[in-house]
Amino acid sequence: MFIVMVAAECAPVAKVGGLADVIFGLSREVELRGHHVEIVLPKYDCMDYGQIWGLCVSYQDLWVPWFDGSVHCTVYFGFVHGRKCFFIEPHGRENFFGRGAFYGFPDEPMRFAFFTKAALEFLFKSGKRPDVIHTHDWQTGLAPVLLFEIYKHYGMQDVRSCHTIHNFRHQGISGQDVLFATGLGRPHYYLTEDRLRDDAQHSAVNFTRAGIVYSNFVTTVSRHHAWEVRHTEFGNGLARTLHVHQNKFGGIVNGLDYHYWNPDIDPLIARNYNASHVEPKYENKRALRERLWLRDAYKPIIAYVGRLDSQKGVHLIRHALFWALGNGCQFVLLGTSPDNAINHQFWQLKHQLNDDPDCHLELRFDEHLAHLVYAGSDFVIVPSLYEPCGLTQLIGLRYGTVPIVRRVGGLADTVFDVAKYNGQGNGYSFDGADPGSLESALVRAVGCWNHHPGDFRKLVQTGMSQDFSWNRAGQDYVNIYEYIRHK
Ligand code: ADP
Repeated sequence: MFIVMVAAECAPVAKVGGLADVIFGLSREVELRGHHVEIVLPKYDCMDYGQIWGLCVSYQDLWVPWFDGSVHCTVYFGFVHGRKCFFIEPHGRENFFGRGAFYGFPDEPMRFAFFTKAALEFLFKSGKRPDVIHTHDWQTGLAPVLLFEIYKHYGMQDVRSCHTIHNFRHQGISGQDVLFATGLGRPHYYLTEDRLRDDAQHSAVNFTRAGIVYSNFVTTVSRHHAWEVRHTEFGNGLARTLHVHQNKFGGIVNGLDYHYWNPDIDPLIARNYNASHVEPKYENKRALRERLWLRDAYKPIIAYVGRLDSQKGVHLIRHALFWALGNGCQFVLLGTSPDNAINHQFWQLKHQLNDDPDCHLELRFDEHLAHLVYAGSDFVIVPSLYEPCGLTQLIGLRYGTVPIVRRVGGLADTVFDVAKYNGQGNGYSFDGADPGSLESALVRAVGCWNHHPGDFRKLVQTGMSQDFSWNRAGQDYVNIYEYIRHK
């Protein structure tokens, strides 16, 4: 099959969040299964150009219809660690992708509606007829609409579409001018409940709803989250639409890049180790303590690595920290917050605990340090209020760092509580978003570390031996591509 991924991000050239890792990981996995994959991205001025090999012009003069005229674009081609990527550069006066940042502009929906239109125009003009166009998140939600309503009539009738929603919180809401910009027009036709209309603002277009209604298959990034968005408030207003389209909707747990996250060969940790030789992991614990000025004592280290965002359950992270210090544990936190109030709260906490030899808060983004934190800690906590998939727990499992998680979204699909999964348990989970629920899991986890070292070692090894790579997810997506291609 020939698959084209259309997305706003791809690691490591244009990475803001997990979406970038999915594009990078999934495209390789689909290729390994014998399929041809190409990726279409915006040509941002702020990309990491050092990670693109052989960048050259692929399509010099692409004129993209836009409102009543057209915008001149150039399409570049380059390899990103072996992935074949096309980068669209518009020369219009809006300067959509030359603004020094990936996101954060008032005309965000227009920027990505343009990118989506340009991507389809590029496929059409360059004669590419993929079997499936796989689009991701709200930025590219209009692609299935454009395909079905416009490009199908230009000879692309056999092209199928799959749309993946990585985060239901951001849906892409735009005024109806976007319909005229992209050539769809007809607001009275599109702005209905069963097409593109946003529930909250009836004169607005909802890009995520567009992706759900018009694509041949819709996925989100874990099975449990697929259930949550249909049955709880996590659907952010799209539960009904997902119900209507439930026959073409499912959840696939994201994979982890097992080449990059591999304690056996990781150059960023003090000593390499694997499931059969776990002992050297403890040299990483020593190295972590030295690096973060923690005292060397017979205590477990509990870590949190991630954004400090309300989604992540900051009140529970804070509670876990104080619980750890009061119950003979050490605590390490590596995180940043985009929210000023939360940021301030954690800086205050850092100053308050500055002299505590059992605790360290590192309030910045540090990819290298993250590797040592995962390798050197005994537990990693992920007490999220919601978590579409989550990577932290997967990295923890890979590094033999036992996850303690709230049972939501992808955390519920990947962490199996030892109390429920005899022999196959790989961590601890709890249900409530209150301190008591968190504590019940912490007590069991730390109790095992203290009193049953043999069981704890087995738990570490079980997690390390389980497969959360792209292997399974890659095959699941290929199955979906095959399924919609023959429909
Ligand atoms: P989300 O995508 O919601 O932020 P995920 O768990 O899916 O959460 O992914 C978070 C990723 O970012 C993990 O790989 C984690 O290690 C990394 N990360 C988050 N914050 C930091 C930080 N301050 N320093 C280093 N790595 C971080």
